[in-house]
Amino acid sequence: VKAVGKNSFKFFDKTLNDNAIANLKLEQKLKSAIERGAFELHYQPQFDIKTKRLIGFEALIRWYDDEQGNISPVVFIPLAEATGLIDKIGKWVITQVCKDINTLIAHTHANIRVAINISTRQLCNTELVKTLKESCEVHQVSPTNIEVEITESMLMDDIDEKKQLLQSLQNMGITVAIDDFGTGYSSFSYLKDLPVNTLKIDRTFIQHVCEQVKDEEIASGIIALAHSLQLKTVAEGVETQEQLSLLAQQSCDCCQGYLFSKPLPLIDIVNINYDGIRQ
Ligand code: C2E
Ligand code: CA
Ligand code: CA
Ligand code: CA
Repeated sequence: VKAVGKNSFKFFDKTLNDNAIANLKLEQKLKSAIERGAFELHYQPQFDIKTKRLIGFEALIRWYDDEQGNISPVVFIPLAEATGLIDKIGKWVITQVCKDINTLIAHTHANIRVAINISTRQLCNTELVKTLKESCEVHQVSPTNIEVEITESMLMDDIDEKKQLLQSLQNMGITVAIDDFGTGYSSFSYLKDLPVNTLKIDRTFIQHVCEQVKDEEIASGIIALAHSLQLKTVAEGVETQEQLSLLAQQSCDCCQGYLFSKPLPLIDIVNINYDGIRQ
């Protein structure tokens, strides 16, 4: 315990301090990783449940550190957000996806979409539209091959600004998906006002969808809501045949998960035949 003033004390929390030091160290590593280009993208396929056809991929960032090995995006993306480093990382992701898209198309078919995860900070900045436009031009990519994934919590404030931004993306041909749907602080009103194409049902609802009646009801509720608004649904984290069958019964449109494939590096993707899913 450290004495601060005459009658007040401040507790010196060792754990907090250790965390702060670890974060600072990680921030330094992250900075140099950006400079050295130490990131890689992995791609996870998404399928149409009815036709069983491949519809696209989600791009997921990977960071390998020589000392610590693989560091999860769950750890470094929030840190990158807090420190502003996400601006550069986000740009790198967009550029890399645009570089990879034509290879993915050549190996699959022209109508695939590659979904890019967009962070809160990126969505607060009109730079996003410019970056996407320029990357598409430079790498000769059609914006109709791109989807952006945003979360509900990003839509909380400055709704008009976000509406404009998403509208300019949609005008280019880019589609918009709401990621982790149902887990954020959602107010359904944004679904009425914002240009959105797809709802991604969060993995936490899919995980026990076959055993927990409530999860099953939530999933079917989200699907019904989406369809009544002319939106598509993607179930994330599908791991079993039983989950897939149930989702098919509920008329969920698309699926993604370990049942089909883990996220894989581009070099592995081009060695796989994506004619359709087994069912
Ligand atoms: P997310 O966008 O919700 O991504 C889905 C996560 O679930 C990914 O974890 C994916 O590998 C994992 N996953 C996919 N199928 C299954 C499955 O069947 N079972 C299980 N247990 N997990 C599955 P990952 O790659 O570790 O990414 C974690 C989060 O990090 C992402 O969650 C996203 O929020 C963030 N992230 C990843 N890449 C990027 C990026 O390029 N930019 C930004 N801003 N965020 C990213
Ligand atoms: Ca996502
Ligand atoms: Ca998700
Ligand atoms: Ca998530």
